[in-house]
Amino acid sequence: MSQVLRESISIAGLPTEIHDMIFKPERIISVKIPVRMDNGKIAVFEGYRVQHNSVLGPYKGGIRFHPEVTLETDMALAFGMTLKNSLANIPYGGGKGAVKVDPFKLSERELEELSRGYVRALFPFIGPDKDIPAPDVNTNPRIMAWMVDEYSKLAGKNVPASFTGKPPELGGNPARIYSTGFGVAVIAKAAAEVFAGGIEGKRVAVHGFGNVGSYAALWLSKFGAKVVAISNIFGSVYDPDGIDAELAAENPEVLKDVRAYPKGQKFNDTDVPLYVDADILVPASLENVITPEKVPRIKAKLIVEGANGPTVPEAERQLYMRKDFYAVVPDILANSGGVIGSYLEWVQNLNWYKMSEEEVRSKLESIMLNNYKIVMDAWKRFREKNPEKMVTMRDASFALAVERIYEAMKLRGLI
Ligand code: GLU
Repeated sequence: MSQVLRESISIAGLPTEIHDMIFKPERIISVKIPVRMDNGKIAVFEGYRVQHNSVLGPYKGGIRFHPEVTLETDMALAFGMTLKNSLANIPYGGGKGAVKVDPFKLSERELEELSRGYVRALFPFIGPDKDIPAPDVNTNPRIMAWMVDEYSKLAGKNVPASFTGKPPELGGNPARIYSTGFGVAVIAKAAAEVFAGGIEGKRVAVHGFGNVGSYAALWLSKFGAKVVAISNIFGSVYDPDGIDAELAAENPEVLKDVRAYPKGQKFNDTDVPLYVDADILVPASLENVITPEKVPRIKAKLIVEGANGPTVPEAERQLYMRKDFYAVVPDILANSGGVIGSYLEWVQNLNWYKMSEEEVRSKLESIMLNNYKIVMDAWKRFREKNPEKMVTMRDASFALAVERIYEAMKLRGLI
């Protein structure tokens, strides 16, 4: 990440000394969360909130529940949010939270206690104009409901704007649940129009069939693409004739284990979507999935990143070395529909106002398409500025995001 930032600072032609000003988190909060388990014993969980940068607005980013999170991964993800929010052109800085836990091993009551405990531990540091968390890997509207309730109890008043990604009944944005996947689909469609003559009939493979992947598949198929492969932690499904994305995305059994899909070829290998004959690959699971060793077997010419950080830098470089490769549309652009959906939710909550689902979706779509256009223009500008370099779409997105943060820092008198 640090190296990529250095490169984008150079591509944007900014002073190298700003690297640390932008890279280092403003604040790292590490908390202990004791939970009385169902067996009567107390288990102590480790939680973090990295408040990375607040130059453009309050910290904003999700909370991840995962057994393998570390403070280091949380810091990298928080930095990613700073860039994503800057690129999305919404008035937020970046942050990210995490709890080291396997939530699937907890009962519903234990999960609720953990979620509330996280909020109690972080209460002094978060809030609608300070730091606004949201769902991320393994967290969802149910968890946000407990969190906003705990926050509101501690504040002594109803504070719906303290968390986004809530259920619609609690002031959540009805389109937020599919915002990230929808945004991925909107961007994939826009990119297919630029690079590949349109989305109609394009074969799409989706790695990871969680919230992002399932809704991306669903919307891409609504836009006319053909979903040929999906996967999750248990295995993969491949059907060159097309997977019924609606059937798959709306079937709880398939969402649990994709191999429950009634048709197609089933595999225990979770990486099948990476290698099938597809025009577009949507990595929508976790980070570091596309590694240099896997690149020779990848056939897609367009990669649209649904997850955060799925492509390892060296793998990306190798992909761009191919003559017929179009682009890796970077996470900070491709999956920004989630946080833009969050922004539209927060604005409503701050104003005690309710937009319809269609209104939110059409606003989200136009913000994303506009950002896509701005990135394409910036890509052209940065390529012209650096004719000796191979400037990727990610480099251009990072450089643009960094440029905006730099300008704000200068105006604030910080540098
Ligand atoms: N967790 C999502 C992300 O990585 C959304 C963050 C938010 O809505 O604040 O972009």
